Amino acid sequence: MWRMAAALTRIAAVGGGTAAPARSAHCSSMHHPVTVLCRQISTEAQSVAARLNSSGFLRTQALIGGKWTDAYDGKTIGVNNPATGEVIANIPCMGAREASDAIGSAYDAFKSWSKLTAAERSKCLRKWYDLLIGHKEELGQLMTLEQGKPLKEAIGEVNYGASFIEFSAEEAKRVYGDIIPSPLSDRRLFVLKQPVGVVGVITPWNFPLAMITRKVGPALACGCTVVIKPSELTPLTALAAAELALQAGIPPGVVNVVMGHASDIGDALLASPQVRKISFTGSTAVGKKLMAGAAGTVKKVSLELGGNAPCIVFDDADLDVAIKGTLASKFRNSGQTCVCANRIIVQEGIYEKFADAFSKAVQKMQVGDGFHDDVSQGPLINEAAVQKVETFLEDAISKGAKVILGGKRHSLGMTFYEPTVITDVKSDMLISREEVFGPVAPLLRFKTEEEAVQIANDTNAGLAAYVFTSNIQRSWRVSEALEYGIVGVNEGIVSTEVAPFGGVKQSGLGREGSKYGMDEYLEMKYICLGNMLSN
Ligand code: ADP
Repeated sequence: MWRMAAALTRIAAVGGGTAAPARSAHCSSMHHPVTVLCRQISTEAQSVAARLNSSGFLRTQALIGGKWTDAYDGKTIGVNNPATGEVIANIPCMGAREASDAIGSAYDAFKSWSKLTAAERSKCLRKWYDLLIGHKEELGQLMTLEQGKPLKEAIGEVNYGASFIEFSAEEAKRVYGDIIPSPLSDRRLFVLKQPVGVVGVITPWNFPLAMITRKVGPALACGCTVVIKPSELTPLTALAAAELALQAGIPPGVVNVVMGHASDIGDALLASPQVRKISFTGSTAVGKKLMAGAAGTVKKVSLELGGNAPCIVFDDADLDVAIKGTLASKFRNSGQTCVCANRIIVQEGIYEKFADAFSKAVQKMQVGDGFHDDVSQGPLINEAAVQKVETFLEDAISKGAKVILGGKRHSLGMTFYEPTVITDVKSDMLISREEVFGPVAPLLRFKTEEEAVQIANDTNAGLAAYVFTSNIQRSWRVSEALEYGIVGVNEGIVSTEVAPFGGVKQSGLGREGSKYGMDEYLEMKYICLGNMLSN
């Protein structure tokens, strides 16, 4: 069933003892044997990797025009397990040439894929969904291996990620146009919705599957074809999903995956007039570059960029609901999501009680290798991520914040960090200005509703916000006043394929998921039929 890549045979050799690099940024010759860098041997992870390898699930080549492909110069990059530092696989380190060929394949495939009926495309997507769900265990294991999130959470992401494919399969059949009442009796006016064309899909490492499927699902449903560039830190889940797309009968060239030199591939996508849209999830800095670069060929752009989510807890909140929701939002994926609560803004009457109960709940969370049962907090993605947390914490402490729980690297070593709660946080601290992207919960204090809204909106970001209150009028009033694309009221996990996800201000452009997510991949064509009365 699986087409085994030659490179697979080189995977999973165990040995060596050098410290893992913080980031696998440099290409190397692919003819070097795989070196496994390991400080702390995780036998469980190794046996999972070996199993995935022998079942063919560990794909290590790029996909161009339906063919599994190495980099043209043979260069590779290692993919690390962040929990152990081991190199799980070597993937192709590609650049502009491979990206151009992938664009060419997507462009050719667009001609026939866009001509299929919606029902035909829907069937392929439905089959892909079934395969993703049928392989949720393996995909989850792959994700835990390369990203570090606990296996249960990883399998949860497979369900979530697959749901975008299922939803898109259903929505494919509902790409309706319009008939507009004509102001002139001899004319008939129509609006057609047509696919934009080839889409460049650039995604980050924190949701290795879902960030891809929520773009590729609607793109394919509308009749577009894609060139995906997953994060080089987590490409293996993307490659396995692409293999399942082929198995689902999605024709060669409709889904292409390339990786390597991010900016070279990005520039090739931006420069090509054949690419009509860029859909990006990642940092605000890279998003701005892509938006500027897309101007050269006037491409459509969807951007899902950084957040700085406020989580407002009012005195009148149900404490248990507030703690459960804040915990879920803050510590999902060890704090590494763009919708994680970044500023927990608590009203003064409930502040001490909340801080105490919240840190007790945080203390119960188990940190460790995502393959171990009961672990809810995996490692951070790399050393740079830990250093960012440390910098933000030092800045906060130097300006008067108090650590009431955690506050240092975990005794497990590697990139594990203790779940941390800090109080007396102020709006001018680095941790309030930018996303910490780690397991640190900063508690700010407010007096009035107006002050809470002012603090919450005092940022360039505008992705997700959370409000905990038992007052229905307040929940509505505050939701309306928040300058955010998403508001969770008495709820910390709000993402679903059926609702629009996206931000305002510098958190991005466009929406993903839901019926609105389809519009991102469609162009509108107005057709005017004239001379309709002559006979
Ligand atoms: P993160 O900090 O989450 O990794 P980035 O914005 O750096 O966020 O990365 C998100 C995605 O964007 C990754 O796939 C990365 O390789 C890619 N990327 C980074 N720089 C560029 C660039 N100049 N052009 C295109 N893609 C890029």
